[in-house]
Amino acid sequence: MIVCKFGGTSMANAETIGLVKQIISLDADRRYIVVSAPGRRNPADSKVTDMLISLKNDFDNGRDVSKGIDALCARFQDIAQKFGIDFDASCEFEKIYRALTLGASDDYVKSRGEYLSAKLLSKILGVPFVDAADLVKFGTDGVDYETTLANIANALKAFDRAVLPGFYGSDKDGQIVTFSRGGSDVSGALVAAAVKADVYENWTDVDGVFSADPRKDDTARLIDRLTYEDMYNLALSGANVLHKDAVYPAERAGVPINIKNTFNRYAAGTWIMKE
Ligand code: ADP
Ligand code: ASP
Ligand code: MG
Repeated sequence: MIVCKFGGTSMANAETIGLVKQIISLDADRRYIVVSAPGRRNPADSKVTDMLISLKNDFDNGRDVSKGIDALCARFQDIAQKFGIDFDASCEFEKIYRALTLGASDDYVKSRGEYLSAKLLSKILGVPFVDAADLVKFGTDGVDYETTLANIANALKAFDRAVLPGFYGSDKDGQIVTFSRGGSDVSGALVAAAVKADVYENWTDVDGVFSADPRKDDTARLIDRLTYEDMYNLALSGANVLHKDAVYPAERAGVPINIKNTFNRYAAGTWIMKE
């Protein structure tokens, strides 16, 4: 059984989501899918998460948010239209606006990118949406692993396949809490650990983990295999291809991580394992 996480570039627009859909349909073992919010469609574009952070900031500073809401709404509406699915983005953003006026938290607002991205992919694939808010539980010092793994295992027992939003969960009062940036990687690792997946596939926009950021250093070499410990140390020193906190849940559960490229799906990618 495979748990897949698709990052922001993979979820950026209808064309890239078309690739995501193909990848999922190529292997029936790809049963649980964790997604990021739509990322940049081109280098000049903004990530939906950044647009949501600006929206909240504008609202808090009394600035007009209508343009921001329209731009966000258009990103989801455009994807829905291209797939011909029934998805009312304006109604969703009406709810977000109402939440803002009722004092919604920063974390709630910035989590909505993943929430809507997962809702959308669930409709596109015809696979149930399962909300991470009810499953990923945060205590005072971060994720409560035991509760979270038990919640996910228990909830997913009822579903042969599911789409889940990455990046957030909730605290003991049910208030939304997000991970730090790039945190959908952690959500994917938690799902993979909870269901004891054979592989945690982390689909991104490069062929795997390189010796340096391949976008900045053209001498960077692709690493075909590395240990959990080496990955953690690379992530700690700035290789943001995988969030550092995604290593521990996978390592603890003994689930290998395979970093793969949505835009070059037959490339083997990088394997992260015990040895
Ligand atoms: P996603 O949206 O799929 O989570 P990210 O932008 O978080 O993708 O991570 C992928 C990016 O990480 C790559 O596009 C690359 O520029 C960057 N990166 C930084 N360091 C490395 C590295 N050592 N190996 C591979 N990619 C790296
Ligand atoms: N959307 C969030 C971010 O931009 C989380 C993620 O993509 O993993 O940081
Ligand atoms: Mg990332």
